[in-house]
Amino acid sequence: MHGTNRLLQALSPRVREQLLAGARSVALPQRYLLTQSSEVTHDVYFLTRGVASFVIALREGESAEIGMVGNEGMVGSHCLLGSYAPVANCVMQIAGAGFRLPASDMKRLFDESAEVRHRVLQGTQQQLLTVSQIAACNRLHNAAERLARWLLTAADRAEADILPLTQESAAQMLGVRRTTVALTAGSLQRSGLIRYQRGQVHIVDRAGLTAVACDCYRITRAMVDCLYSIP
Ligand SMILES: [Zn+2]
Repeated sequence: MHGTNRLLQALSPRVREQLLAGARSVALPQRYLLTQSSEVTHDVYFLTRGVASFVIALREGESAEIGMVGNEGMVGSHCLLGSYAPVANCVMQIAGAGFRLPASDMKRLFDESAEVRHRVLQGTQQQLLTVSQIAACNRLHNAAERLARWLLTAADRAEADILPLTQESAAQMLGVRRTTVALTAGSLQRSGLIRYQRGQVHIVDRAGLTAVACDCYRITRAMVDCLYSIP
């Protein structure tokens, strides 16, 4: 059932064992809420498969994604930094699996182990830098650039070229209307870059889609790529 989580893999075997001793292996279905905005975080997660999105949902019903996490990091690291509750929900976008650990256990390991602290802070910095980039992206780049960026980022995390994605959830991620998603996806399809069929997107021409995506894709991907090459 499980793949690997790259953060866990980067830890020395002894520390990894300590961390996993209190963890539970869990299936994570699509739409599963990992952490909730304004709520105390009781558990942290290390995904081994699937993709989760950090989504800001406004009272008016609008929403936008501000970041994504897959098997390269952890969900819930904000609770190690201070007492503020998160402002975003973290929800499974593509079903998968992972390890769930009580936040109190994670906090103890974070305090005790310099190695855990280093890896978690490195990953948290990467997530914060990504959020900063996406904040600018959501304001400055057009729907086609952002949809292409989103599809490529999700495909990298899922390690697959076929993604489950309804127009409604794409609209929620990008903070645009469904009609904008339909028009944009239609245009990418006519250019032969994707094939879009009822709730599934197939990336047909990755190089072409990369050319359409804004530079935010390259920038955020480079940060993930070098995450574990840093000693
Ligand atoms: Zn962008």
